[in-house]
Amino acid sequence: MPFKSLHIIEPILRSLKEEGYTKPTPIQEQAIPILLQGKDLLGCAQTGTGKTAAFAIPILQMLSENRPQGGKRKTRALILTPTRELAVQIADSFRAYGKYTGLTNTVIFGGVNQGKQTSSLNRGVDIVIATPGRLLDLMDQGFVSLRDVEMFVLDEADRMLDMGFLNDVKKIISHLPHERQSLFFSATMPPEIVKLAHTILHNPEKVTITPNEPTVDAIKQYVFFVDKAKKKDLLLYVLDDDDIRTALVFTRTKHGADIVVRILTQNNIRAEAIHGNKSQNVRQRALNNFKAQKTRVLVATDIAARGIDVDDLEFVINYEIPNIPETYVHRIGRTGRAGAKGTALSFCDGGELPFLNDIEKLIKKEIPAFNDHPYPMSQEHHEKQPAKNSHGSFHSAKKTAATPGRKKWRGQKRRR
Ligand code: AMP
Repeated sequence: MPFKSLHIIEPILRSLKEEGYTKPTPIQEQAIPILLQGKDLLGCAQTGTGKTAAFAIPILQMLSENRPQGGKRKTRALILTPTRELAVQIADSFRAYGKYTGLTNTVIFGGVNQGKQTSSLNRGVDIVIATPGRLLDLMDQGFVSLRDVEMFVLDEADRMLDMGFLNDVKKIISHLPHERQSLFFSATMPPEIVKLAHTILHNPEKVTITPNEPTVDAIKQYVFFVDKAKKKDLLLYVLDDDDIRTALVFTRTKHGADIVVRILTQNNIRAEAIHGNKSQNVRQRALNNFKAQKTRVLVATDIAARGIDVDDLEFVINYEIPNIPETYVHRIGRTGRAGAKGTALSFCDGGELPFLNDIEKLIKKEIPAFNDHPYPMSQEHHEKQPAKNSHGSFHSAKKTAATPGRKKWRGQKRRR
């Protein structure tokens, strides 16, 4: 189905074409018609599904079709998102898709001087994309009025909850006009989030893009069984491959991320960490270096990684297996975005076997094991470790692969 059949206006179609989008992703196909009818939407979708365009396109279209004449621009759309990285990315998307609409946006986040943000608000702006803390702060100082907001998006609601932003979010919502269109997105729907959604939305239409849909299925996934103490050696071994130009490595903790960066740096691999203890500026710089491929490995914790959108990111490495299975889906969703190629390699130690089990239950498939690496799991865990076939050494796979780095991750079925 082309974008045109979703009744998108010409100026937006033109920019989508320039972005190289040929057809809508499933969430766009479902959400855009609902939103163009003015209905509220409850979207259960992870990043990487094309979620941003699913809300940005209809917002741009509706604001552009119903434009007040004359006077200073009023803030008619508000997008609340948990992290600075996400806010910047969303703003970039609005700018790209709205290039020919004449609508303007500004991005508001903490950790930086407020001067640039307040002067842009003072000039008047159609769309505000903000993280909750700084927005509330600027509202308190009288720089932002939400009186004219017609469309409101709460993005990544579950992360807002995780990051302790729920009260700020509720306060902001209390300043919105009653009469408005609301959009609510969350990758997971724990009870608290469902409750919050009920307070924000009015007769919403629901759109669910589940982890089983093609975005995740298209990602090649392998598990490497290894002892905890040998994970660092395994990481160096895996990265000893020029075909892995960049890789996003996940750890469970901030401390773990710093340790991995130290090990990589000591071994002459350019690496930077991005996590909650780093300032916004440092995080943004690390992300920019990674996008520009100046940094080969970006090591991230889950919360920090939510804002990461890197085109052509092919490799995600789970240095530690997440204990919440949905997190695995979010992590690997950083690669293979919108139909691109993606490979996810997970390092699983004995203590993490139950987490792996939960993940396989959630994604409803067995992740093939890559066995023939030099650091197999030691004897003490062998009973717990599923038996596996072997298909020759990792190195021979590496050498014989016609397209090295792409084909070498040929996993095998595990025998249960
Ligand atoms: P999101 O889920 O919004 O973070 O988007 C994931 C990625 O998909 C972004 O890099 C977008 O630029 C890209 N994208 C969004 N919609 C499309 C589309 N219809 N066709 C191709 N790429 C898309």
